[in-house]
Amino acid sequence: MSVAQLPSYLSKENIGPWHIYLQQVEQVAPLLDKALWPWVETLRRPKRSLIVDVPIRRDNGVVEHFEGYRVHHNTSRGPGKGGVRFHQDVTLSEVMALAGWMTIKNAVVNVPFGGAKGGVRVDPRQLSPAELEGLTRRYTSEISSMIGPDKDIPAPDMNTNAQVMAWMMDTYSMGAGRTVTGVVTGKPLSLGGSLGRPDATGRGVFVTAREAARKLNVPIEGARVAVQGFGNVGEASARIFAQHGARIVAIQDVTGTAYNPTGLDVVALKRFQLENKTLLGAPGCEFIDSAAFWSVPCDFMVPAALESQINRHNADQITARIVVEGANGPTTPEADVILAERGITVVPDVLANAGGVTVSYFEWVQDFSSFFWSEDEINARLERIMSEAFHAIWTMAEVRKMPLRSAAFVIGCSRVLEARATRGLYP
Ligand code: NAD
Repeated sequence: MSVAQLPSYLSKENIGPWHIYLQQVEQVAPLLDKALWPWVETLRRPKRSLIVDVPIRRDNGVVEHFEGYRVHHNTSRGPGKGGVRFHQDVTLSEVMALAGWMTIKNAVVNVPFGGAKGGVRVDPRQLSPAELEGLTRRYTSEISSMIGPDKDIPAPDMNTNAQVMAWMMDTYSMGAGRTVTGVVTGKPLSLGGSLGRPDATGRGVFVTAREAARKLNVPIEGARVAVQGFGNVGEASARIFAQHGARIVAIQDVTGTAYNPTGLDVVALKRFQLENKTLLGAPGCEFIDSAAFWSVPCDFMVPAALESQINRHNADQITARIVVEGANGPTTPEADVILAERGITVVPDVLANAGGVTVSYFEWVQDFSSFFWSEDEINARLERIMSEAFHAIWTMAEVRKMPLRSAAFVIGCSRVLEARATRGLYP
């Protein structure tokens, strides 16, 4: 089997998160059915990558330029699907890696999508609401040749939300000359959004954590949980864990780390964060150093912020029995080895945070059929898909004596490559 070659636009110096994705593919490639080996190279190359200039007029009249990206990693199983991230550290390498993980994730939960992702290198906290709308609309317009309800369907990711999706939908629709609700998911309910979508990723994190806990005889009731990231994924994960009797002992966001060994009030803390734009100063907790978060005594740790947060510098400090990856790529391959040696189970991102794309799939189906389901129906279907995916991966990991991440990648990569091999090469 050949070793991955870097695309010419990435060098060893700027390879970034794409390197981690590639390492994960290299690890599982020999474990795949030999008949699929000739096609593995497909996973090492994004199908197409677009870099766009996104100029906006700031409120003071000055024109400023930002760099944006949209990557289709693989569309063998269906249209591209993946979020849009606004963050000052977004790079092409990061978007490629996130798109690659979407390819695997969509195959793991068996939704009929390929993998895609997008982003703009911007700190959205520095933009006014009008500037944010301008940025979103220009970015959407620049990537409009790549997206469409049967082509590539964006969704929210870090620092993007239902309002950003509404602007994207409106911009695309204006170009198309008709209202195209199915071009994005994670929309507001008033525009064809789905019930259950805001909590879907956090709910999936909880379902997979609960299933892992059952296997390992770790009770949820009274369990101590530490959560990094207090946005869409982190907040919903923490809240749903707490609703099931767990104690949320630490929550970290970009502003600080709240700690209370007897349990934080997740709802009150979120209210405080929304009102004050910081966690610092919230009542009912103490604030600890951000590095101390990793050694907080806990049973579950949920990283739900950025990539590579669990790495060789802190993996040996983690006390949790189970790490549930709400974020994409939060654990480096080196840290994976350390956690495995220490007997810590990692529920990998491509499974644990797939609840969001699963309900995005439901939203897309509902938009196409213009027929909307109840929240109970959505949560029940989400629960079934997530627990079935969990058990398939757990069983493979047990039978073939491999970590859950490898088992998830074997299942995901096999589905993608079988589709690829069956389609054959064009022309
Ligand atoms: P978000 O913007 O809603 O929240 C991000 C949170 O992370 C914020 O609370 C922010 O303060 C915190 N954060 C940022 N930088 C940090 C740092 N350096 N240290 C500690 N905290 C930091 O984003 P989100 O949608 O919740 O996404 C979080 C992660 O989950 C990302 O990896 C994303 O790709 C992944 N994810 C999101 C979804 C989804 O449906 N939104 C689905 C699957 C995976």
